[in-house]
Amino acid sequence: MANTFFAEGSTGPGRLTLSNGATDVFFDVLTLAGCAIAETPWQRHLALFCADGHRLDRGCAGFDLGELPWTPDWPAEKSFFLRLIDMAATRHGWDLLRYEPPYASNYLAAYRRMVDGYRPVPAESSEAGDWREPPAPELLERCDTHHIYQGQFGCRLCDPELQPEPSTR
Ligand SMILES: [Zn+2]
Repeated sequence: MANTFFAEGSTGPGRLTLSNGATDVFFDVLTLAGCAIAETPWQRHLALFCADGHRLDRGCAGFDLGELPWTPDWPAEKSFFLRLIDMAATRHGWDLLRYEPPYASNYLAAYRRMVDGYRPVPAESSEAGDWREPPAPELLERCDTHHIYQGQFGCRLCDPELQPEPSTR
């Protein structure tokens, strides 16, 4: 099982396919970074999107960047997304992971090129909702151990079902 992330129209790579285990790692490291730096409603929604990523939607967690609810303020939103990826690439919070992710830097570098080459288009509406509205406060409650948002499904780093086996990192 695998998940494919798309950046249709990007001048960088157009897709990134990750195994389920690698997808867990990908969202783990993005969540650790995003929850540390998100300040605006849109930014918090993006961090929550990562925190909730690949939880119930096992093997179907891929998405196109065009599915995110970009607004007319998309230049700032895109630059935040790049900053989030850059923060993850600094291994922010990786000491909290119960595994060592040797390939995560590669996914992050590939995904950064996808996002960097992508030109968002403001969405009329999105299945992801309106990210200009603040998320529900309970979704932003943080895990005492991992300091990340609990999101819809509880802390992803506390979820023993989720943490990848050593062989699939
Ligand atoms: Zn936790």
